Amino acid sequence: MTDAANTRHTRLLIIGSGPAGYTAGVYGSRAMLNPILVQGIQPGGQLTITTDVENWPGDNSVMGPDLMVRMEEHAREMGTEIISDHINSLDLSTRPFTAYGDTGTNYTADAVILATGAQAKWLGLPSEEHFKGFGVSACATCDGFFYRGKEIVVVGGGNTAVEEALFLTNFASKVTLVHRRDSLRAEKIMQDRLFKNPKVEIIWDHEVDEVLGAHEPRGVEAVRLKNVKTGETQDVPCAGFFVAIGHAPATELVKDSLELHNGGYVKVEAGTTRTSIPGVFAAGDLTDHVYRQAVTSAGMGCMAALDAEKFLAEHEEEDETAHAAE
Ligand code: FAD
Ligand code: NAP
Repeated sequence: MTDAANTRHTRLLIIGSGPAGYTAGVYGSRAMLNPILVQGIQPGGQLTITTDVENWPGDNSVMGPDLMVRMEEHAREMGTEIISDHINSLDLSTRPFTAYGDTGTNYTADAVILATGAQAKWLGLPSEEHFKGFGVSACATCDGFFYRGKEIVVVGGGNTAVEEALFLTNFASKVTLVHRRDSLRAEKIMQDRLFKNPKVEIIWDHEVDEVLGAHEPRGVEAVRLKNVKTGETQDVPCAGFFVAIGHAPATELVKDSLELHNGGYVKVEAGTTRTSIPGVFAAGDLTDHVYRQAVTSAGMGCMAALDAEKFLAEHEEEDETAHAAE
């Protein structure tokens, strides 16, 4: 049930403010759809927690947060209304769809673009949970500063882990990267930088078994590693432990209403951004288990706005009649 006083109607609602959301805003605005974009609790998305982005076409190197500020400005300049709110539930059972914001505002929309991206994965260890915020982190750019002159352990073998490890060498006396296999999946150029860095040690074929530390005051002192081949354990001293094992799609709003696949990603019709509900489109990391890049997310944001524009044009008469009757 929507409360009329707190309800905003829009033809196109965009949920999420990463590269997919802002690009959808640019294209949706240029299609004269006057979109509303709800930013969520991480305005700018995942790139706001990194430093140099070296693969955004047109910029040899750009700081992630700066790029996202530019994207936000671009979407706003084009005509997107950008709102600081977080959607806590989404009713896709009837059109217009309704999104419920934490601020108390309900957003009704003739079409919705979901661009809620992805969130950091955790190992799932009780000790990791216990020390979260007390030495355990998933964001080097946010928390690296606290470990000046100290030893740090990073777990993971993808681009994020390598980037985080390299970034942390700016603060730490030593960074140990722990990976469960004997080769990294990070890009070769990143691997080269890592291997050349004198502050970095790599421990291959090991998993993190437990985070060890003091309880009063709470703080990490070491991580216990287990050799995946022999089962032998060893404790590596550290003051900070960074988990960088990838990201999971943020599907909380739609896990019971939309078709998902590939381990929880929103399913779209091949070559489009159309989901299993007509009028609902998905773009970016939320729907992409393969590429997961800023540029591919932006590309899908463009596609979603164009798909939404076509859908709305096809349903214009029906929507006008429905709104006139309200
Ligand atoms: P995201 O950037 O994940 O943004 C999701 C948005 O959805 C956020 O704004 C969030 O607030 C919002 N949201 C979520 N839930 C809700 C809700 N319920 N209500 C409202 N809003 C909501 N890619 C590159 O190409 N180059 C790089 O150098 C690079 N470096 C990276 C470094 C790190 C540390 C990380 C983590 C990722 C990096 N990536 C990089 C990957 C890149 O950041 C992602 O592919 C890209 O940000 C995905 O964009 P997106 O728009 O799909 O979603
Ligand atoms: P990712 O590519 O999925 O890599 C995750 C890594 O963590 C893998 O090495 C994986 O090991 C390991 N891992 C997963 N679960 C684990 C567990 N439970 N215990 C121990 N290790 C575990 O994730 P990502 O590095 O976050 O990158 C996500 C996407 O963003 C990628 O597409 C990436 O290219 C992109 N990105 C790009 C940049 C850049 O371009 N500079 C920077 C960051 C991210 P296995 O290898 O054994 O599977």
